[in-house]
Amino acid sequence: MKKTILIICDGLGDRPVKELERKTPLEFAKTPNLDKLAQMGISGAMNTVDIGVRPGSDTAHLALLGYDPDVYYTGRGPFECAGVGMEMLPGDISFRANMGTVDDELNVIDRRAGRIDDTEEIIKALNHTKIDGVEFILKKAVGHRVGFIMRGKGLSSKIRDCDPHKEGVKVHLPEPLDESTEAKFTCQVLEKFLKMSFDVLKKLPMNIEREKQGKLPANYFLVRGAGITPQLKSFKDKYGLNAVCLAGGGLYKGIAKLIGMDTPEVIGATGKPDSDLTTKITKLIELYDKYDFFFVHFKGADTLGEDGDYEGKVKFIEKIDSAIEPLLKIEDALIVITADHSTPCNLKAHSADDVPVTMFASDIRDDDVEHFNEKECAKGRLGHIKGENLMPIVIDLMGLAELFGA
Ligand code: ZN
Repeated sequence: MKKTILIICDGLGDRPVKELERKTPLEFAKTPNLDKLAQMGISGAMNTVDIGVRPGSDTAHLALLGYDPDVYYTGRGPFECAGVGMEMLPGDISFRANMGTVDDELNVIDRRAGRIDDTEEIIKALNHTKIDGVEFILKKAVGHRVGFIMRGKGLSSKIRDCDPHKEGVKVHLPEPLDESTEAKFTCQVLEKFLKMSFDVLKKLPMNIEREKQGKLPANYFLVRGAGITPQLKSFKDKYGLNAVCLAGGGLYKGIAKLIGMDTPEVIGATGKPDSDLTTKITKLIELYDKYDFFFVHFKGADTLGEDGDYEGKVKFIEKIDSAIEPLLKIEDALIVITADHSTPCNLKAHSADDVPVTMFASDIRDDDVEHFNEKECAKGRLGHIKGENLMPIVIDLMGLAELFGA
């Protein structure tokens, strides 16, 4: 059986950028190694969730790994919380939260509290708070982010995001999205917690000190993405493969954990553009005999796309290209390179544009594609596929597909 290395470059796809000679960052970047894989392999264009759908990273990853997001996606919160290593029980409501800065009227000044990183004191002050029989469980995530779980009886995830997703406007108070008693109760308890925590955080020595230094205080939990704990069949049960995830970002490790993949720590993997990409590949080679399936995630291109930083995105793509060079020496693997969605720099957001996909194995039927990019890959033999097609193709190329018929 072949092993598979699936490399997902988050937000890799783009649209032509005027300053890059009207090329996309991927077309503009110098990528000899990615091009070599495209030359030796088969390529195509892919809509990860569906044609015309702007995928979130979470729904796109579920689809790519073979879990229909229409069935299994229960909100982003549970995936983020799993990613920072929080235990989740059935009935828990999990959120993702930013530590933000609000004024006394609860207007959002900064959704990231000046991109604060040292949130440990905040978490210590409020973790395990109990209100009306509901426990609030908090854990530090990357940067200003916090994993946020409500645990208790009679809770619902049908509540609106409290994060207004922009600055200069008031936070949303918890509001039920349906008429259920559970949703109303969840909102009441959450509102009590948010009010109480705002009073605590205003007086927290760390925040007083930050204000003295001219920094923004981290005084409010901007919660969003409420979800119940999803029940997912493990990757091992689904495909019979021992799988490992090599990622820095919490969401990706979270998805991997929820489907039972191992998620070892990778030194230097930060989930940010400064991430050391080579350590993931070194780790992969180190673990090569132990696993059948390697899910490698590179986050930076998405972040840079959202910042509109096309030059940074070009550089990051070139960093991916040089990091993956050692993989070209592996002879018995199926290597798949793709993205979860496009994040055009001009848009500073995800788009529904398809993404390039290339698959290489030593015995694969190749095509005439010479370069790994949006335009070239679309001309390849794989044609136009959807995310849900990816794993069946992989399983077949691994030699594991069952015969349909006789
Ligand atoms: Zn993404």
